[in-house]
Amino acid sequence: MAEFEFDLFVIGGGSGGVRASRVAASLGARVACAEERYFGGTCVNAGCVPKKLFSYAAHFHDDFQDSRGFGWATPEIAFDWPILKKNKDIEISRLEGIYKSILENNKVTVFKQRATIAGPHEVQIGNRQISARHILVAVGGWPWVPAIEGGELAITSNEIFQLESLPECMLIIGGGYIAAEFASIFSRLGCHVTLVYRGEALLNGFDSEVRQFLSAEMGRHMELHLQADPVKIERNNRGLLTTLDNGLKLESSVVLAATGRRPMTANLGLENVAVKLRDNGAILVDRHFRTDEPSIYAVGDVIHRVALTPVALAEAQLVARALFADDVREMDYQNIPSAVFSLPNVATVGLTEQEALGKGLAVDIYSARVKQLKHTLSGREERSLLKLVVSATDDRVLGVHMVGPDAGELVQGFAVALNCGATKADFDRTIGIHPTLAEEFVTMRTRSKSHP
Ligand code: NDP
Repeated sequence: MAEFEFDLFVIGGGSGGVRASRVAASLGARVACAEERYFGGTCVNAGCVPKKLFSYAAHFHDDFQDSRGFGWATPEIAFDWPILKKNKDIEISRLEGIYKSILENNKVTVFKQRATIAGPHEVQIGNRQISARHILVAVGGWPWVPAIEGGELAITSNEIFQLESLPECMLIIGGGYIAAEFASIFSRLGCHVTLVYRGEALLNGFDSEVRQFLSAEMGRHMELHLQADPVKIERNNRGLLTTLDNGLKLESSVVLAATGRRPMTANLGLENVAVKLRDNGAILVDRHFRTDEPSIYAVGDVIHRVALTPVALAEAQLVARALFADDVREMDYQNIPSAVFSLPNVATVGLTEQEALGKGLAVDIYSARVKQLKHTLSGREERSLLKLVVSATDDRVLGVHMVGPDAGELVQGFAVALNCGATKADFDRTIGIHPTLAEEFVTMRTRSKSHP
């Protein structure tokens, strides 16, 4: 491999890029990784990790309230945004450093610079060209804002982590993961939240019952405008004024556009090679993450298949092992669990009821709306939803869905069960852990619906 300076040049030091670099280097490859912004990518710096830290902060709001029914006399509580932001910043810069050290400790040559593609085996860094046998593009995605008049006045999930003070009022556009999570977080931190979403229930693509249930739960903590779309954002003397397509005008101090993310393929030098893009701007790859340029691969958000950190990690690992361990395998995109850290949390694995019906499957639905034991004393009017989609043909559990506390923690285990092909009978013969919410999943005996 000596005719190239590196065996693998990775563009992008996010979850996928760092994983591929580390695994390839540990297999003896000479690896370089270029990152222009921050190591750890969106997940560590402007996504999963800081969001979860904010989400923990938001949780205390309900916990303080709930504690009173258990005898705690909570004095007047106050929330200090600058403390949260400062502590979050410290933790994120610590983590970013760890990601950089992972590369250095594995003898990956690190370029803290923008890299572009100059040819099938050439990467441009500043005015230097570097050769590599293989190139992996793992540059991720970036928030996208629709072309609304005044859309430039909106911030995105990038800026939300850098706010210097807690806004009094926030208007959030969108109904996906980011909208649901930040609406929940800021409503609990003491901000008046208005969420505007064009659909009829939040979380398009999730199970309909989950969507309705979550929308109703979240609607108790914020102003929810469904089936409405903003058409204009403008400044007035009190802040921002957003006009909806139904004529409603809403004031806020901040507008957050949580309207999706797009692959960051612009100005990457892709015109210099045979790499093709899909209509949505994502890099087109085959089953082995190879682009139309045989020496160039792509993984993670830039291929826009499933934009989740653990998926990018798995894809990156597969590429590195295929290239340097001769271990060629395909990614299994079935039963990928995911959680939305809204309040309440949502988690899901497998098919929704609608997906099962769309595939023409005969399914039985088991669903329960449960009041957590905790809320008998807390007085909180909150229920949780647990739902199973079960094949009527072979009894296999095809989908597990939950809206409720720690849903992500819980559904992770059920994802293993689904991957093992668990049947409803397996669920039924499993002894519950009492008293928990999770035990509902193994005690649901009555079908709530049957689709023959
Ligand atoms: P999503 O795709 O989840 O949601 C985008 C939202 O914006 C949808 O509600 C969509 O509506 C709406 N939207 C899109 N275009 C327009 C438009 N022109 N006008 C009005 N509304 C519009 O994207 P997010 O930005 O929330 O998150 C990006 C991705 O990041 C997620 O899909 C997920 O893969 C990942 N992520 C994962 C998290 C986790 O695992 N917990 C947390 C955060 C992000 P509609 O549905 O009607 O098209």
